[in-house]
Amino acid sequence: MSFPYCNVALAVPLRTLFTYAIPEGLATAVQPGSRVLVPFRRKAMVGVVVEMLETLPAGVQSEVKIRDITKLLDEVPALTPKLIELAQWIGGYYLAPIGEVFRGMLPPVTDVKVVREVFLTDAGREAIAQRRLDESAPEFVADCDPEETKLLLRLAERKGQLSFALALKSGMDAARLQKLQRRGLVEIRERVAGSARKTQRVIAWKEKAPGVTVQHEREREGEHDGEHADAGANEARCQRIRNLLLTERGPLPISQLLKLARVSRGVIERMLRDGVLESWEEPVDPAEDEFDAGYTPPAHELNVQQESALRAIRERTALGEFGVQLLFGVTGSGKTEVYLRAVQDALARGKTAIVLVPEIALTLWIGRQCRAWFGARFEGVAVLHSALSDVARAREWWRVRNGEARVVVGTRSAIFAPLANLGLIIVDEEQENSYKQEETPRYHARDVAIVRAKMENTLALLGSATPSLESFYNAENGKYELLTLAARVADRAMASVEVVDLREEFQRTKQTSPISAALHVGIQECLANMTQALILINRRGYSWSVLCRSCGAAVQCENCSISMTHHKQRNRLECHYCGSIQSVPLQCPKCQSKYVYFFGEGSEHLEERLRKEFPGARIARLDRDTARTKRQFQETLGAFASGALDILVGTQMLAKGHDFHGVTLVGVVGADSSLSMPDFRAAERTFQLLTQVAGRAGRGDLKGRVLIQTFYPEHYAIQDAVRQDYRGFFDRELQFRKMMAYPPFTALANVIVRDVVLERAIQWSRLLSEYFVPHDGKGLRVLGPAAAPLARLKKEHRFQFLLKSAKRSVMTKVLGGAMAYCEAKEIPQTAVLVDVDPLSLM
Ligand code: ADP
Ligand code: ZN
Ligand code: ZN
Repeated sequence: MSFPYCNVALAVPLRTLFTYAIPEGLATAVQPGSRVLVPFRRKAMVGVVVEMLETLPAGVQSEVKIRDITKLLDEVPALTPKLIELAQWIGGYYLAPIGEVFRGMLPPVTDVKVVREVFLTDAGREAIAQRRLDESAPEFVADCDPEETKLLLRLAERKGQLSFALALKSGMDAARLQKLQRRGLVEIRERVAGSARKTQRVIAWKEKAPGVTVQHEREREGEHDGEHADAGANEARCQRIRNLLLTERGPLPISQLLKLARVSRGVIERMLRDGVLESWEEPVDPAEDEFDAGYTPPAHELNVQQESALRAIRERTALGEFGVQLLFGVTGSGKTEVYLRAVQDALARGKTAIVLVPEIALTLWIGRQCRAWFGARFEGVAVLHSALSDVARAREWWRVRNGEARVVVGTRSAIFAPLANLGLIIVDEEQENSYKQEETPRYHARDVAIVRAKMENTLALLGSATPSLESFYNAENGKYELLTLAARVADRAMASVEVVDLREEFQRTKQTSPISAALHVGIQECLANMTQALILINRRGYSWSVLCRSCGAAVQCENCSISMTHHKQRNRLECHYCGSIQSVPLQCPKCQSKYVYFFGEGSEHLEERLRKEFPGARIARLDRDTARTKRQFQETLGAFASGALDILVGTQMLAKGHDFHGVTLVGVVGADSSLSMPDFRAAERTFQLLTQVAGRAGRGDLKGRVLIQTFYPEHYAIQDAVRQDYRGFFDRELQFRKMMAYPPFTALANVIVRDVVLERAIQWSRLLSEYFVPHDGKGLRVLGPAAAPLARLKKEHRFQFLLKSAKRSVMTKVLGGAMAYCEAKEIPQTAVLVDVDPLSLM
């Protein structure tokens, strides 16, 4: 079959594919998933081949000049067929332009030099064997292609691997090599040049050395080098090494093996010499190397509840089918340990795994644990997140695509990791908002994970101490399987949570301080006992509101309807939505009065206050202002984890996942202000945050205590968080959602119409309203158009329609119609923003 044309997705905000002709020379090389350079309007653009076409699509008239692909960028298609399918699903479900979906999936285009290599496959080896007249003869049967055979032989000589350039020297051209690949005799892979790094020595048990050990150790019984004083001890030592290398961990870097097996280097060297062990060199990442140095992951035996969760996971994966499990484990119940073993299992089955975490900081911890567990045996773990440089990200991406890494740890977009043969997807802290991308395509990585698991016939394992209402509802319904870890590991108690009523506090002290008397005493106790305190505040900056006391005017951003945040150290006002900056006003911009008043404490203010109240303490702050790079992050977290700090103050990024053992006090300052937000998820978000942060206390041997300062002590989100009663909260919140017809009882979509010119925004909302009105009430409710809660954002005026439907298919259809309608009425695509399953209605 020949395909003279193909459809290409381009990263432009259009919902269509573009047809190009495939020039003769590329006829066999272009495949679905290949990146290509194509002419688009006046420019050259990078696109992805989505489908091959035998004839021109029906809509395209033959007289239209179809342009040629300029260049093929990948010898091996960047995207697998499964990822193309996934992209198409995302485009349809989230109504996102397909090219923009692909853009999020592809590695960054960098000038990373890629070297191409040709590998001999098992089938290729087979072919060599078959072509020989007999085992030993160098002659070959006459009817096979001599150049082809020459290449195969050459490959076999070179340990099955040749550079592409050398392969061509055997008389083959690129097209013939491609053909050979399609027949399965060779594999062409691309590797990032210069990805050869510093190496480490890895030790493995030699499979074919059964029994050798014991015998060999006996022979040496007479030796007096101290190490071998006792034959029983030797045997035990060998057994330990054998267990570690064969069953528990697999091949290990020598430094780790020495630690885990508690033996001296001499013992290992001897076993190597005797052929019981083997070793080889493997590359290590210099940055990771530094972070990993001296780290040995804890090797816990699973407790009964962890064991039974793992058993359920195994039973499920053994089926080799799609499934979703929700691991509902209280904070500190040891979920990570279960994840790692589930990944280990997947690898042992010859599969690959993705571990999604909500924060870049967590990729550091989990990445390190994964490297320690799997790094050696499976040639690698890749870490993918947005803070990597383009070059580093491209390098990691291609390592995954080329099968060099079989475990991917990453944030949201790592769900698109180009792993083949996926055997497990883990979504840790599945309730986290950071899994939702708040720009086109507005996908939710947890939901995409489930769809990908379905497409790849595998298991999605969601984990959380505070599952999202949606996921827990699905578990209650039997749609997901619920696995529970009800208690903390090692019989550790949950932290005790107390409320500090700020209204009372004010009555008594007539002062507003971000640090209540109770919190002050608590911190003092920590310092006296040499334990650590973690103080969480919901906003960064110094004060998040600037008001005039004389006329009441608030200083708003000139682009957004939101108040500016005062940053004292930088001595300016910043808008946290659009990033614009103003100088700090000395007088009211409206009435010129001098009574400008800053209020609402942010993290910067809190840090200053703590330094004043506890001058001797070692204090650091962690928020987006202080931790701009991975290194800063690592340093501060590392310092706190090692006990070099007494107090760590910061924003939500502190609340999740971290496992600090010295923390006995967690203080929460102002985290309840989210309760007053006009958002149906406000209670859920507050409850989750408080429970998560409470989970940071008392993770070591010392008991933890949590103080929540609040103006709403009687709110059920606070009350349930105090009791750490997830089910109680779930039941109450579910009632509310049902009454108000919110998710999980309805599907929701937010359609925002926006423009810098108010009149245009109004005009388009009216037009769109004409489309929506006839649909309203037919299995769907349409609310709006109304001014969006953030009526102005980044200079644009915003109006919104809220769509609610008990039937998702109805909603998707109406939204699809709306897109077509906009096109027909020439409402620009950029003016209409569709957010399916929105997390926030702002
Ligand atoms: P979670 O993610 O559920 O909050 P973690 O996975 O961070 O909990 O585990 C909490 C702590 O318990 C970690 O320090 C971990 O090393 C330790 N841990 C895990 N499993 C066990 C176990 N079976 N026995 C003792 N400690 C364990
Ligand atoms: Zn004023
Ligand atoms: Zn702004």
